Amino acid sequence: MKTDVEIAQEARLEPIESIADRTGIMPDEIEPYGRYKAKLSLEILKRLQDKPEGKLILVTAITPTPAGEGKTTVTIGLGQALNRLGAKAIIALREPSLGPCFGVKGGATGGGYSQVVPMEDINLHFTGDIHAVGAAHNLAADLLDNSVYFDNPLDIDPHRMVWPRVVDLNDRFLRHVIVGLGGKAHGLPRETGFDITVASEVMACLCLCDDLMELKARLKRIIVAFTREGRPVTAEDIKAVGSMTVLLKDAVKPNLVQTLEHTPALIHGGPFANIAHGCSSVIATRLGLKLGDYLVTEAGFGADLGAEKFFDIKCRRLGRSPDAVVIVASLRALKMHGGRPRSLCHQEDLAALDKGFANLAKHIENVKLFGIPSVVALNRFPTDTDAEIKLLEERCREMGARFALATVWADGGQGGVDLAREVMAACQETSRFSFLYDLNEPIKTKIERIATKIYGAQGVKYEPAAERTLVEIETLGYSDLPVCVAKTQYSLSDNPSLLGRPQGFEVTVREVRLSAGAGFVVPLMGNILTMPGLSRAPAAFNIDIDADGRIYGLF
Ligand code: ADP
Ligand code: MG
Repeated sequence: MKTDVEIAQEARLEPIESIADRTGIMPDEIEPYGRYKAKLSLEILKRLQDKPEGKLILVTAITPTPAGEGKTTVTIGLGQALNRLGAKAIIALREPSLGPCFGVKGGATGGGYSQVVPMEDINLHFTGDIHAVGAAHNLAADLLDNSVYFDNPLDIDPHRMVWPRVVDLNDRFLRHVIVGLGGKAHGLPRETGFDITVASEVMACLCLCDDLMELKARLKRIIVAFTREGRPVTAEDIKAVGSMTVLLKDAVKPNLVQTLEHTPALIHGGPFANIAHGCSSVIATRLGLKLGDYLVTEAGFGADLGAEKFFDIKCRRLGRSPDAVVIVASLRALKMHGGRPRSLCHQEDLAALDKGFANLAKHIENVKLFGIPSVVALNRFPTDTDAEIKLLEERCREMGARFALATVWADGGQGGVDLAREVMAACQETSRFSFLYDLNEPIKTKIERIATKIYGAQGVKYEPAAERTLVEIETLGYSDLPVCVAKTQYSLSDNPSLLGRPQGFEVTVREVRLSAGAGFVVPLMGNILTMPGLSRAPAAFNIDIDADGRIYGLF
């Protein structure tokens, strides 16, 4: 079997100009970055402001295994399939971070015959957006320390400097660091840490903004520290915002690439799915909706996290909701939820599958709760048996859920045609979307609504630190923000070992963070890391390049 990177390297790509042309983009609205990547001008949105929007398809998933169950792969395959059926489909994805790429998860460009290309470029430095976010973030950190160093005119409390530094790698050794060592000329020693760049609030701001000026307005609100009296110090107070915005002037423009079958794909922004909302930019979504009949996009992690945040955070920004939701399931993950050890999930086990179906059922119910039609897409892996597929289809039909087998990994767009037909039919159903909560409800009510309705929890406990911050957020006047939960993606609960459809549990809010620039409040449940570490044998060991520039080992 060929690897993802081998398949990608065999592809014959079309020049990016011709992809843009077929997508209805004018020659002066594209800025090519080499032959197969381009930045797009936000002027397109102005030119097309009166054009009706296409259908919005959100791809989400069941509670995944650490390997991922194929949301990106299915998103790409579905886009290719819709194009085969004569619809003009566009895909919108996040930009891959280097951390997971060299860690265990690998890149984020799909797999098999449903990939976006050039996959090496997209997975590595791409058009430099993530580096720009890192530079803008670190500039603010530098200006913050500098302000304290030069007589601290803002009376910043050195113990409440809440803006870390970032780097786009999985580097556990940087989680806790001491900066400013070496004597008076080199700063003031203090403890701080590094997050992975995609966990930066700057990334979340970029992905939720309307344009460069609205991004600037968000950056101004970012809280970087507190004064000794407890007042917030913003990025504007430390005079960072103009320079940060300059660094982000190109990052704000969406990137255009193509799939293996030349379907246009917008890849823009990559907010971490736990500490942030985990989906590609509002700008790219709006652009795709104007340019295509269908815009297919992915939200990170399972539907309890990614889809809920898409609905309650991103849809408020978009001013609309998806027409249909695709819930990606894999037999291996369902068998794991049914109690089969993960290492044996490639073998047939109808009993475990039947039991594990409860996890999928909960996600189907959750999407229904928001009032949006859904389709279950079974992402077929080579080891899946016909008997297992038949059982899953039966269980879905018994629930009245639409079901389609997707073989997009093995067959490309052709393997997604059944799914595409189901999705088109689902789009014809009436969607009665409603948010899970109103913004003016108390933050605790919003958190409890998410925990009880979506996770199936009995209640929410708050640790004292969380209680204190909630009071502070109210005093500062931010209680009308939406909630962006950070919790494990491996369980519907906040405990990664509770598989399937856990019942009778409570979730614990350990800490609450305010992302005033991005515009959400983050309750942290369980131990969430904002800087991942490498495993004993990370993907980096197998990645290499030869004298002809051929890259190996990316996936
Ligand atoms: P997600 O977006 O849900 O995290 P991805 O689409 O990135 O998942 O897929 C995760 C990994 O699994 C990728 O490396 C991809 O190549 C592989 N993969 C996805 N679907 C299949 C499949 N049907 N058969 C085999 N491997 C697959
Ligand atoms: Mg993905």
